[in-house]
Formats: sequence, structure tokens, C-alpha cells
Amino acid sequence: NSSLHELDPDVAAAVDAELHRQQSTLEMIASENFAPVAVMEAQGSVLTNKYAEGYPGRRYYGGCEHVDVVEQIAIDRIKALFGAEHANVQPHSGAQANAAAMFALLNPGDTILGLNLAHGGHLTHGMKINFSGKLYNVVAYHVDEQTNRVDMEEVERLAKEHRPKLIVAGWSAYPRQLDFAAFRRIADEVGAYLMVDMAHFAGLVAAGLHPSPVPHAHVVTTTTHKTLGGPRGGVILSTAELAKKINSAVFPGQQGGPLEHVIAAKAVAFKVAASEEFKDRQRRTLEGARILAERLMQDDVAQAGVSVLSGGTDVHLVLVDLRNSELDGQQAEDRLHEVGITVNRNAIPNDPRPPMVTSGLRIGTPALATRGFAAEDFSEVADIIAEALKPSCDTEALRGRVTALAAKHPLYPGLK
Ligand code: PLP
Repeated sequence: NSSLHELDPDVAAAVDAELHRQQSTLEMIASENFAPVAVMEAQGSVLTNKYAEGYPGRRYYGGCEHVDVVEQIAIDRIKALFGAEHANVQPHSGAQANAAAMFALLNPGDTILGLNLAHGGHLTHGMKINFSGKLYNVVAYHVDEQTNRVDMEEVERLAKEHRPKLIVAGWSAYPRQLDFAAFRRIADEVGAYLMVDMAHFAGLVAAGLHPSPVPHAHVVTTTTHKTLGGPRGGVILSTAELAKKINSAVFPGQQGGPLEHVIAAKAVAFKVAASEEFKDRQRRTLEGARILAERLMQDDVAQAGVSVLSGGTDVHLVLVDLRNSELDGQQAEDRLHEVGITVNRNAIPNDPRPPMVTSGLRIGTPALATRGFAAEDFSEVADIIAEALKPSCDTEALRGRVTALAAKHPLYPGLK
């Protein structure tokens, strides 16, 4: 019964160092967030010990009476949060949620239509060496070269030409909202299922600040750790009609025992996501992204060859175009790392540089909003980023400004 520090000082030291990194730098990776202490407490609980193959009330193991309660709470809360007819909270991750949803709806060799990876799609939407690209026949749609917005005419044309069994709408790197009704109309015209992967913007939807895909899609998948701010994991929502298919695709189709400790943490996160505090946080997330986009579109930054893809943002992230900048994606990511801001380089549509270098940055505001950042703080961080992306900058001075912001909004003050 030793503590982590007593039993394994090596792992404990790395965990402590990671806590310090999170506390002392500014996290702006668009897919990351900070889970509340109560979520981490649930995730670190004795529920990790329990096998519970099956679903609440229908398990293949004894002793499931308490995990049944937990899983049912998680299901009821997320159904209420998004107005969904059915929820499966067992997928271990977003990728596994997508794998199970496709497994439920498709047979190997069926055609799927998804957003190209380099244009903002996810690996699981049909990348060649992902399961989705290997099992299914993939046709990809793109963003328009001029507007950088999803080209719905192309979606319609490709759907009519290839008659996919599934159309996937959703993204990992796209700064605008999708037209779910238009996707559904196209899906209906060709007899396809519509699956929306709302992993990135689920928190915005929960707060009522982004259109909901739930009324339009047959299936909606999400992660629980991005804008939703919970533990790492996945969820599938669907119509009641598809409930059985979805459940059996998750278990026994794709997974064995569910992670009931993570499901408990998801339940806690869904409770938080229904609160006024959460709405306020999502409002600040959007405001922060808009402030950042506006700062990065000012003349002094434009003169450094930096621009903002699609000319702004409607969501929690900004895509920075570095094609005309002296810095490539890798150099810009490194520069921001030096000043204490963590982001990821990101391929942009028609990127002339290789995927390990790229000509773009994806910068998100959810984690800083969770940390308590308000408009004035986002203005300061936007200015730091603007200065850092110029060919030469005073790294030391910028690092000092980052440290001051981190100190103003302490993260996990109770944790050591
Ligand atoms: N779907 C989308 C749109 C994503 O952006 C991601 C993660 O980046 C995933 C699915 C996969 O989630 P996970 O990393 O939990 O497998």
C-alpha cells in the first residue's frame, strides 16, 4: 500500500515534472484541456479493478452493482446533455469510438466519404494506413482553395458519383462550422449514413455555442477530453434505431472490459458540462480564439508573412498559415516552445512542406479558458504569439510575460 513516490520514485518524478510543465507553461494545443481534480479522482479510483463486460444490468461478471450505477449515470447525463436517443460511453478513445461506429454501419470494402487529412480531417476518417483506410474504400472531400471552407459542392458531387455507405463530417483542424443539415440532405439523396465526429467542438455544442449535429446525424462520435474537458476517452451517440448495432459493435465487436474508472470520470465531466460555469468557460474559449485570430491578422504580423486561414475562426482554434513566413511549422512550434507556449505544427491545405515540418500552426484556447483566462489575458497571449512569430524576437522578454500570465492563473494549486 505504498504511495507512488515510495514505490516508484522514477515514475513519480516524471509525473511531478509533467505537473510542473503544465503549471508553468501555457497550453494551447487545440485538442488538450485540464480535467478537474474530481474527474482525476474518479479516474484514479478502485473502479480500475473491476471487470464489467456487457452493459448495465446485463454483465458477464458478478459484482457489477456499483459500476452499473456509475455507467448508467454517465449514459443518462450525456444523453440529456446532447439530447441524444442513445449513448454508449465505453469506447476507450475517440479513434475506438469511430472504429466501432464504422464497424456497426459498414462491411469491409464499403465506401466512405470523409474530409482529407491534410485539409483538416482525422486519421480515422480514411487515412491510408489507418484502419479506416485499410478496411474501407475511401473517397475524400476537401476545402475550397480560395475560401478554405469545406466545399459542399464537391461533397455532393463525390457522393453522387461514388454512392458511399457512410459520409463522415467532422475535423481535427478546421476553424469553421460545418453545415450538418446540408450533409444530411446529401446523405439522404444517396442513401448513406451520416456520422458526425464532434470530438473537437463537443464542449461548444454542450454549451449551446455551436450548432448541434445530433438532430441531423445517424451517429455522432466524440472524445471526452478536448473541449468537453473530461478524462481521455470516447463516446458514441446514435438514434434509438441504431442502439443495438452500436452497442454490439463496441462490445464484443471492438473491445473487452470497459474502463469503469474512466466511465466514472466521464460521468463527472458530463455533470460539469451541464453547469453555468462550463458555459462561461466555453464562451471565453471562443472569445480567446477570436482575439487571437484578430491579433494575428494585424499589419505587423502580416508583414512577417503570417496569415490566418479562412480569415478568422468560429470555434476554439486558429490555423496559422506560414507559407510566406521565414519560419516553417517546426521552427514556429519550437520558437513558441522556447517562450513557454505549447502548440502543434499542422499541415495546411496544399502544404508545400513535408508533414514532419509543415507550413502551419494549430493554436487552441480551451485549456487556457479552463485555467481562467479572460479577454484581457487572451489579448496578452495573442500579442506574445504575434511577437514570437516575427523573424526576430526577444525570447527572454516574451518568456517573462508568459510566466506572469501562468502565475496570474494558477493551475491545480492544491497539487504538489
Ligand atoms: N476524432 C477527431 C476529430 C480527433 O481530432 C481525434 C483526436 O485528435 C480523434 C477522433 C481521436 O481521438 P483519440 O486520440 O482519443 O483516439
